[in-house]
Amino acid sequence: MIIDIKSTAKRAAVLAAASGALFAFAAPVMAQQQFVTIGTGGVTGVYYPAGGAICLNVNRTRADHGIRCSAESTGGSVFNLNSIREGELNIGVVQSDVQYNAVHGLDQFADVGPYDGLRALFSLHPEPFTVVARPDAGVVNFEDLEGKRVNIGNPGSGQRNTMELLMDEYGWTTDSFTLAAELPSREQAQSLCDNRFDAFVFTVGHPSGSISEPVATCDAVLVNVTGDIVDRLVDENDYYFSATIPAGMYNNDEDVTTFGVGATVVSSVDTPDDVVYEVVKAVFENFEDFKALHPAFTVLEPETMISMGNSAPLHPGAVRYYEEAGLM
Ligand code: GLU
Repeated sequence: MIIDIKSTAKRAAVLAAASGALFAFAAPVMAQQQFVTIGTGGVTGVYYPAGGAICLNVNRTRADHGIRCSAESTGGSVFNLNSIREGELNIGVVQSDVQYNAVHGLDQFADVGPYDGLRALFSLHPEPFTVVARPDAGVVNFEDLEGKRVNIGNPGSGQRNTMELLMDEYGWTTDSFTLAAELPSREQAQSLCDNRFDAFVFTVGHPSGSISEPVATCDAVLVNVTGDIVDRLVDENDYYFSATIPAGMYNNDEDVTTFGVGATVVSSVDTPDDVVYEVVKAVFENFEDFKALHPAFTVLEPETMISMGNSAPLHPGAVRYYEEAGLM
């Protein structure tokens, strides 16, 4: 939430004056401060450190702009999008397919209709749709999940969104699995290793501790997601692309082939231009420091970040910075 401390401080000053307390002296010091909350994902994913990296850069220059930024762990993309729409979050990290669906009022957003007030800031790292299985589960490609115990992701997460689309395409329902678990990302590695299910799905940047943990703990393996259905989805939708998790990134001797989306950072048209300007500026002016904060950011390039993966128009505050910086 953006809370305008000016008015809150003024009210406190009035109350303090009325009660004779000394707190009124605090008011001038706190003038101008604004709070910005970024919705991310589970703490073991990449969204959470991504939000932390953005806020770290914003808070570093707080003395100049008065913005206090914090990253909040959430249920993921769909949760973030809905919370921005309801005014509960200012900024959120969301998958590019979820952003597209929200803009056009499709799938899980069909009931609420197109979200005209959604604005894009920039895109981040690629997120391959990643299937991780127990080594003894006999899962080699995505279709082998049928009849298995699968964690399909918590409602509100991006992976649940992508998984439901794939299930529709394959003609599956939750009954197609012996168990369809709905655990959030932070619990899935441990639960896989505890043999509570055979596989989980996670749309996430790489490398990620959420994948290296089950690989190291119980020899979990990465599974290909290939075939005609996936090829068609990639052909038909700009926000999907073929993706490879390179050999050796985890315990995989060979490349793992799948498809993926991009992580994107979005906000509402109601978030003030000045706030978005400062957030975007903080990331791009300290770009090398920002990139160094997570290994999944190694591939980031400023030009691509402002031109790829976004279906919503860029926020005017972001455009102001990009024009000033000569990026557009
Ligand atoms: N892509 C996931 C989601 O949209 C989150 C990935 C992460 O936490 O890094 O829910």
